Amino acid sequence: MPSKINLKSLSKPELETFMRDSGLPPFRAKQLLHWIYERHVLSVPEITEFSKDLRERLSGHAYLSSLELVSRLTSEDGTEKFLFGLEDGERIESVLIPDEDRLTLCISSQAGCAMGCRFCLTGKLGLKRNLLAHEIADQVIAAARLIAPRRITNIVLMGMGEPLANIEHVAEALRRITALMKISPRRVTLSTAGIVPAIRELPKRAPQVNLAVSLNATTDSVRNSVMPVNRTYPLGALLEACRKYPLPPRRKITFEYVLLKDVNDRAADARRLIGLLKGIPSKVNLIPFNPYEGAEFRRPDDEEVFAFQQILLKGSLTALIRKSKGQEIRAACGQLEAGYH
Ligand code: SAH
Ligand code: SF4
Repeated sequence: MPSKINLKSLSKPELETFMRDSGLPPFRAKQLLHWIYERHVLSVPEITEFSKDLRERLSGHAYLSSLELVSRLTSEDGTEKFLFGLEDGERIESVLIPDEDRLTLCISSQAGCAMGCRFCLTGKLGLKRNLLAHEIADQVIAAARLIAPRRITNIVLMGMGEPLANIEHVAEALRRITALMKISPRRVTLSTAGIVPAIRELPKRAPQVNLAVSLNATTDSVRNSVMPVNRTYPLGALLEACRKYPLPPRRKITFEYVLLKDVNDRAADARRLIGLLKGIPSKVNLIPFNPYEGAEFRRPDDEEVFAFQQILLKGSLTALIRKSKGQEIRAACGQLEAGYH
């Protein structure tokens, strides 16, 4: 007997073809998508809008995959970290971050990451594999089920992995998250270490989604040493792509800047940063380094972080200090390693 097909592995047009081939009218595909992405069912028999006969027929040769919740940790500040198991045993993490009236879910795009940034624990894992579109979108479904009746308002692709190294599957996942789960693309932010050709592709692949760029240094020599991707796409090329990025009106590119003590946190760096971002509608998110065991970097003191921010503000940049949430459950930026360590 051929193995069953996972309905979540199909895009909308593929699902319509599948339904037609199974002798079902295409409107069934629409109903099915509604039950999967808005009602969050875990299996075909739960789709009570379908007759018993239809459910049985479908279950005969199709199924719905779902992420396995391996653990759920809650931090004192309300941040929650979900560890999910995939069908092949790989593991990924998603982080829920409550902030005033927002409830942001930070999702993973890869198991591990190939980019090798020296300050990032995910980078130390290397790449296990790309996530498939449904594994990316399923993080949103699984979290939505777990936290109901609270509702996720924002999505950030800032979990494990480099989303632009997996742009096909990320784009398909974002189509599902925006069109089917009805989260506005304005409330979705994709963060990249700076894969320049993929930044140019992004507006076509994922229209209206916000862009965040992990800058993290103001000279090529420092950036080369902490982010190997800079050797392929140096600062000049990266900022040129940002300058040409077709931003919708009133929107900005977010530049993340992890502050590493005595590496990139000096006054001269702040001044250079102002110069580099000239002409780009931008806001800067300063992220004091989140330490972990065996890390080769240190976090600057609070006064140093404030001083850095002050220079940016005086240079007319919008600059926020990102509070690192969920530290004690290792849910903060760069601390996701899905229990592999
Ligand atoms: N791969 C993408 C998205 C995931 S990383 C990217 O690099 O943009 C999300 C953010 O966490 C990035 O801005 C990265 O610079 C930051 N980060 C990684 N390790 C960190 C650490 N140890 N402390 C603070 N921020 C870190
Ligand atoms: Fe990968 Fe982003 Fe970590 Fe760099 S910072 S290793 S790109 S997850």
